[in-house]
Amino acid sequence: MFIDGSNSSLKAVLLHHENLYRSIPVAYAPKTKETYEVFKKLLCCLRYNENDWKICADLKVIAILTGLQLGYTKHCCFLCEWDSRNRKSHYTRKDWPMRHNYMMGQKNVKEISLVNPKNVCLPSLHIKLGLFKNFAKAVNCNSECFNYFKCKFPELSDAKVKEGIFIGPQIRYVMNDLHFDSLLNINELSAWYSVIDVVKNLLGTSFRKQY
Ligand SMILES: [Zn+2]
Repeated sequence: MFIDGSNSSLKAVLLHHENLYRSIPVAYAPKTKETYEVFKKLLCCLRYNENDWKICADLKVIAILTGLQLGYTKHCCFLCEWDSRNRKSHYTRKDWPMRHNYMMGQKNVKEISLVNPKNVCLPSLHIKLGLFKNFAKAVNCNSECFNYFKCKFPELSDAKVKEGIFIGPQIRYVMNDLHFDSLLNINELSAWYSVIDVVKNLLGTSFRKQY
């Protein structure tokens, strides 16, 4: 189940695991904000506990669902005890202890978790769009790479290309086009391989089997 809210409404949609069947909207609440109480009611109405669906949402929604305190807190990750205040370690330390208990009042846990944290899936498409956006934004406007985007996707405005606003199928196209690699300089290529690495090995998209 994918849950997300905007300024005007809150929605919950059931997505098929393999994406073979279309999605089914199961909840829609206009003028409703993302709060613990609202999610509690929503999950109750949908009888979530009987269905045991996986939960897919952005990190803010996941934080609320797992009972975490919002805002700039010390321990804001639902998976581990990453310390937002320990700035010195942010770019050097890779291993942080796993978050094992969700005891109220400890490590920024404010409420009882509404879902089993093990059932949470990170939204891979959101992450992929974000990664590609950062990559495209870093590419110089006069580079061959920028021209490639303009040429392959003429429907996109300059502003969208500059800001890296692409959709899933466009990203998939670029990732499968080995010609794209030949347009990149050494730094861009190394960043590009990192993007591919994350998409392939972390987000689990199967493509570029030869890579
Ligand atoms: Zn973490």
